[in-house]
Amino acid sequence: MPDLDLILLHAPSVYDFRERPAMYGPISDVIPSTPVFEMYPLGFVSMVGYLEQHGYHARIINLAVKMLKNPRLDVERLIAGLDAKAFGFDLHWLAHAAGSLDLAEIVKKHHPDTPILLGGLSASYYHEEVIEHFPQIDYVLRGDTTEKPLKELMGCIEDDREPGNVANLTWRTNDGRKRVNPLSFVPEDIDDLWIDYGEVVKLVVRHRDLESTLPYENFMKYPFTALLTCKGCTHNCITCGGSCSAFSKFFGRDRPVFKTPKKLVEEMTIISEYFKAPLFLIGDLRQAGMGWAEEVLDGIKREGFDNTITYELFDAVPEDYMKKIAGSTESWTLEISPESHDDGIRKIMGKPYTVAQMEKTLENALENDCAKLDVYFMVGLSGQSSQSVLDSVEYCRHLYRKMDNDRRIYTFITPMAPFLDPGSMIFEDPRKYGFTQLYRTLREHKEALYQPSWKLYLSYHTDWMTRDQVAETTYEAMIRLNQLKIDVGINDEAYGRKVDGGLHMARDLMRTIDGIIETTSDLGERQMKYNALKIEIDEAMRSTGLAKRELRMPGLAGIRVKGAMKFLLKYLGL
Ligand code: SF4
Repeated sequence: MPDLDLILLHAPSVYDFRERPAMYGPISDVIPSTPVFEMYPLGFVSMVGYLEQHGYHARIINLAVKMLKNPRLDVERLIAGLDAKAFGFDLHWLAHAAGSLDLAEIVKKHHPDTPILLGGLSASYYHEEVIEHFPQIDYVLRGDTTEKPLKELMGCIEDDREPGNVANLTWRTNDGRKRVNPLSFVPEDIDDLWIDYGEVVKLVVRHRDLESTLPYENFMKYPFTALLTCKGCTHNCITCGGSCSAFSKFFGRDRPVFKTPKKLVEEMTIISEYFKAPLFLIGDLRQAGMGWAEEVLDGIKREGFDNTITYELFDAVPEDYMKKIAGSTESWTLEISPESHDDGIRKIMGKPYTVAQMEKTLENALENDCAKLDVYFMVGLSGQSSQSVLDSVEYCRHLYRKMDNDRRIYTFITPMAPFLDPGSMIFEDPRKYGFTQLYRTLREHKEALYQPSWKLYLSYHTDWMTRDQVAETTYEAMIRLNQLKIDVGINDEAYGRKVDGGLHMARDLMRTIDGIIETTSDLGERQMKYNALKIEIDEAMRSTGLAKRELRMPGLAGIRVKGAMKFLLKYLGL
């Protein structure tokens, strides 16, 4: 019998990205991942931790990171050499539809008798289609919290029992019938399901394999850590698959559930022991009420963290709460996503504040010594024309002027891509919001990901912009915003020029790909022409990827040797 019970594998967005020439575009520019989305979901860590607590041995192998770091890695050979009672893949973000399902097929080829499970919000949404159309997947664990059902499923696998009583499970019986067990595990208490980064360190030591466990390619150069404050959301942004309405309709959660402030702060303390890295608290603390938010901020103050803490804002902030945030810790930053400068568009998108309220918030933050303010705009919104996108960039110019060109303000603009979130209000009722949806099923989304450019796998066009316009306007807006950041002095000239060069190159390549499609009908010949662009495409993506530097928080980030040593001594029983 294998020693390991479960291996959780994280796939790149598209399995053969190393050979396949594709312009993945600027979609991943505002997250730490590269365009192949190598960052595994936080749930991987809590699942491994939970299974270990209950006597199972599990590990994570981030195949995407391994492939990025070892261009010649023989993935099939690596997979053939694995041994476990079960394998698991994530399909949380739909961008992994091709990579996860294709790699699961390879795992099945080499381990035909070993069950493969799939989890995550997209897998939950498409659970029936997965079981009906993807024979490589045996089980889908549905919902936002699956640690306990996973443990029960592992028991069934071990004893060779049918999992008829495992909550949240969609599965195939031995005679090929689909079974959908009730979505009955939707816990109100999530304190015991936490992200223990000590667990990650343990995996590294136990398997003597750092690479497999890295959350993303450049984690060792710049560690960035994140914590969930809750499951679900009180808001209803129309494009969000994690909104209140999506959770209630598809994931069985009528209202969000929060960690206790004590547990959240404890989790932060453990991370801080290992990493002198930014701590990003996912979710606006005020969602659980002001009392809860203040308790968290008081706890943070008591602990006296020296990490930079990033607070996410879903709404404008009154001055007294801003002072409370400012008083919680030495170094703190804020993130806010107005999406558009236009109050009307923002209102349609489901954001409850005006631009005037946002500006007041930013002013207050700067006055209270906020170290960095990240402000996110988007392309492809309901009611948004190309001109409106460019007006958002002009608005950024106004914002900088109004804030005395304060270099702590970082503005970003990205396309709403590649896909509309399944379960979001816009996905469920696209015409209501002026959207035309191009793909609906999981198979359609998967197929789209093999296209040679992000514009071609964009899953929608709107009454205000075609896909061509979304793509062209995105590059134009990014080029202008980059120039604005050079003008304001946020980006130095040399760095800004490199980013500019990458953006122009990416736009030209996208147009070249369009030209190939227009002029070449033979598919084989087309592919040869795409292949000839591979080096340029990789170069363009490297240059635009430079812009990730702007995501960094002030101060140094790294691993604390003392924390790692302390763990090692404990692990070795010394
Ligand atoms: S995008 Fe909106 S709905 Fe989604 S998690 Fe953020 S605030 Fe909630």
